[in-house]
Amino acid sequence: MNKFPSLEQMAVTSEATLRDALNVIDLNGQGACFIIDKDTLIGVLSDGDIRRALLEGKLMDSSVLQVSNDSFVSLPINTPLKEIQKKLKEYIRIIPIVNKENKLVDFVTASHYHHIPLTQPVLDGNELEYVTDCILSGWISSQGKYVGQFEELFGKYVGNENTLAVSNGTVALHLALVTLGIGPGDEVIVPDLTFVAPVNAVLYVGATPVLVDVERDTMAIDIELAKHAVTDRTRAIIPVHLYGHPADMTGVMDLAEKHNLLVIEDCAEALGSKYKETHVGNFGDAAIFSFFGNKTITTGEGGMLLFKNSKNIEKARMLRDHGMSKERKYWYEYVGYNYRMTNIQAAIGVAQMERVSEFVLRKRWIAEHYKQCLSDVKNITLPGEFGEVYNSYWFYTIVLANGLSSSRDSIINDLIENGVEVRPVFNPMHIMPVYSPYRVSGENYPVANSLAQGISLPSSVTITESDIHRVCSVLRNLLEKYQLDTIHLS
Ligand SMILES: *Cc1c(COP(=O)(O)O)cnc(C)c1O
Repeated sequence: MNKFPSLEQMAVTSEATLRDALNVIDLNGQGACFIIDKDTLIGVLSDGDIRRALLEGKLMDSSVLQVSNDSFVSLPINTPLKEIQKKLKEYIRIIPIVNKENKLVDFVTASHYHHIPLTQPVLDGNELEYVTDCILSGWISSQGKYVGQFEELFGKYVGNENTLAVSNGTVALHLALVTLGIGPGDEVIVPDLTFVAPVNAVLYVGATPVLVDVERDTMAIDIELAKHAVTDRTRAIIPVHLYGHPADMTGVMDLAEKHNLLVIEDCAEALGSKYKETHVGNFGDAAIFSFFGNKTITTGEGGMLLFKNSKNIEKARMLRDHGMSKERKYWYEYVGYNYRMTNIQAAIGVAQMERVSEFVLRKRWIAEHYKQCLSDVKNITLPGEFGEVYNSYWFYTIVLANGLSSSRDSIINDLIENGVEVRPVFNPMHIMPVYSPYRVSGENYPVANSLAQGISLPSSVTITESDIHRVCSVLRNLLEKYQLDTIHLS
């Protein structure tokens, strides 16, 4: 996807000749190359510099060191984007970016000053072909071959064939609760740290969410605390596999069995994740996935609902289509909804499913590289795999130590100013006035509060290794700066 040259494609060593440099410039298409000596930047050479040198009588086999311009401009890695843009306006075509040891870590040009996105959909497989097929054939609504194909491919991948494609992940949660008969008077245990959808879905059906704190390591619901939140009105629990890390499903299922609770797994962020070698979504009575644009696979908007019991899928299928009887047209057995997925969405989904394994492996590769880069950085906690799990690392999310938490928003702003798009962890539900009525009394949610000081780093499957290094150097420098500030203040 990224046709912009990598750092390696921009560099020659100090032993190179003018001929070598011209070859590199010819291939990188940037009109210049960098001269590197053991990773240290020692010069910048443009095609114009070489042309002038040849006219002055230098030979193609002369060393680049005879020509290189040592008054070149370079900028330190945490230079704000605005300053970089200002320099580029001074007719400097290309600016190398260096770290404190003067090691080349990146470069910018007028057409490309590095913006590293948090996440980006990858749509360069068969997406266009299948969508075009929908349009040419006229099957653009919710009938057509792709919806069934998508449900089938998805079911095979996850290992549960009771799948139902719906218009988004939030309605999948609503439909799960309605199908399982949860309603007014019922309590449903939900994690305090989550994207809002599962809590809202409980409120849609007139039931009462009960907010329970999460675990520090997995960031998912704390089962010990959930035990204490069970009352005689508790009907269900919704574990959320946050950022791709599976919840403690042994704990969830034991609790559910003991108190006869229904389990609805929110797997929106966990496609590809496994708990004890089983894909998430196979433990609960129901499970949902989301295909919003930033999820591991996308259909633009979209969702999938899965049930353990195939009877439920028949009921949910009716509810998805206004509650209409399968046998009798325009005869309604339930007050239903229109929660159907379109053939166009499903066409994208089929193309995405062709590459899902590649996407998940890439997310794990990203996590591995972040870990290598960040493991010696003080005052941050890295995500990992806690228990017998396989994490699909939807977003690589680090947590700042408490001493730095007051600087979290400034660190986020500085990262964004440096072209590194990051985002804060979700707000704990209990702090928002609309959800504070669902607090467990006497509970202060210390873990959710402290994890909320987290930052999700760029986790796009398109991210390159040098982008990861750049994210890490910018972050490392900022953390040092803020740590010093904190020490000065105290
Ligand atoms: C994305 C997400 C959903 C569902 O989102 P939709 O945008 O409605 O598809 C539900 N739960 C969690 C935890 C999510 O991250």
